[in-house]
Formats: sequence, structure tokens, C-alpha cells
Amino acid sequence: MSEQPMGHNLLTIDGVWKNFRGHSVLRGIDLEVRPHEVVSLIGASGSGKSTLLRCVNLLETVDDGVILLDGEDITDPRVNVDDVRKRLGIVFQAFNLFPHMTVLDNVTLAPRQVHKVAKGEAEEQAHGLLARFGLADKARAYPDQLSGGQQQRVAIIRALATQPRLMLLDEVTSALDPELVLEVLGVIKELKESGMTMILTTHEMSFCRDISDTVCFLDGGVLLEKGPAEQIFTEPENPRTREFLRSVL
Ligand code: ADP
Ligand code: MG
Repeated sequence: MSEQPMGHNLLTIDGVWKNFRGHSVLRGIDLEVRPHEVVSLIGASGSGKSTLLRCVNLLETVDDGVILLDGEDITDPRVNVDDVRKRLGIVFQAFNLFPHMTVLDNVTLAPRQVHKVAKGEAEEQAHGLLARFGLADKARAYPDQLSGGQQQRVAIIRALATQPRLMLLDEVTSALDPELVLEVLGVIKELKESGMTMILTTHEMSFCRDISDTVCFLDGGVLLEKGPAEQIFTEPENPRTREFLRSVL
């Protein structure tokens, strides 16, 4: 791809608006994500965090603005949606593993069907990922034989199996019992250490502070404040950011 002015960003969100039935839930969002950067979206329920991730994954179409992935305008109507999604890994709050398939089949499905990787190679890679995240002995298990934390780790591994450029993690620990949260946060931490670029939303504020390079505070669909995690958590500039953090910390 030719060098573009914003080419050093892995993702560029530029002036994005999203409306639902005449109500704007994203209001001119600007956000740049560099390779290896971990960006967290924080804000009250309904502030637009999930919608923004869904726009990046093309599960929603934007009403105005553009989103560039590796310099390519993925909001262009002529874009190949499948080709864009191949470069993204997304994990949601609810574990959405296929219940009738083993862990191994869940993890190898996309590499085999979407990326046309041979069965043996996909399985070898899957075993490697399962071992890396402490699930080597679960390859033949079915999702309902796993704890919630294990299921969510498999969901993350499944998203990783296609070697995405960018991971989108939407409240991946929110549905878990407290004692299972840490094992999932540990996986995300390992991903950061391996250099994975990520955008995540979370209610785990100490984790957010610890793992994020950049924290964005959304309020009513507006990206009100953005800065290094340490600055946002210790000296937020916007009164509404301060108010939000007081309410959750
Ligand atoms: P968050 O993830 O920060 O809790 P969301 O992005 O889920 O916020 O929602 C932002 C706003 O958009 C909310 O007011 C929500 O009700 C609304 N919204 C989200 N998805 C839809 C949809 N498909 N149809 C109508 N309204 C929606
Ligand atoms: Mg949400």
C-alpha cells in the first residue's frame, strides 16, 4: 500500500458519527491507534463504546466519517467486508463458542474455512495457542465442560488463531464470576507483552490503568478526553471524566 499521511497508524477513526433512529450515539469520534498500542474505551453504560467497536468491525455502518485500517478506508461501501474482518479479532462479553464443537474445532474453524489453512497446520497452530494459554489439555473438551474463564480464554484464542492485525475486546470479563476474571485478564496482559494491538472496553479500572497505553473517556457518544493511562487516572482534565472515575474507583 502506498504511503499515506496517516499510514503510521494501524487504525484511524476520523470524525465518525453513528445514528440510531435519529439519535446520535457516536458524535464525531477521532481516534488513532498505532501498531502495538493498547487503547481502552471507558465511560458509562450507553456512552457508545460497543457501537464504536462494532463500527470498526463493520457490524455497523457509520453515518459520517471514515475508518482506515492499515491506511485503507474500510468504510468505503465498495470494501470487501470479509477481507476486513479477516484482519480483526473480536471477542464479546458473552462467550460465543459453538457449543456442539470441541475447543480444537472452535479454534481451527476460521483458519480453515476463511483463511484456507490446511487441517494439520491449523490444528498444530491451535495446539500451540492452547498450550501458550494453559489450555493444552482442553483441546478435545466441549465448551460446556469448561469454566466461564476457560471458555472466554478459548474465545480469545479463537480470535487469535487467524493472526489478526488488531484485537477488539468488548467487556470480555463482565460475565465472569470474580474469581475467574484474573485468568482472562492474564491472557490479555500476555497479548500486550507479545505486541498485539488492541482496543478494549472494560469495567476493571485497575486493569485498564495497568494495561492501557491510551485511555479514552466516552460520554454520550463524544470522546471527551483521551490521554496516557497514568494521566487520565491521576489528573483527568475534564470534570466529567473526574466525575466518572470517582463513581467507579
Ligand atoms: P456502551 O457499550 O458504552 O454501553 P453502546 O454502544 O452499547 O454503549 O450503546 C450506545 C447507545 O446506542 C445506547 O443508547 C444504546 O441504547 C444505543 N444502541 C446501541 N445499539 C443500538 C441499536 N442496534 N439500535 C438502537 N440503539 C442502539
Ligand atoms: Mg457495551
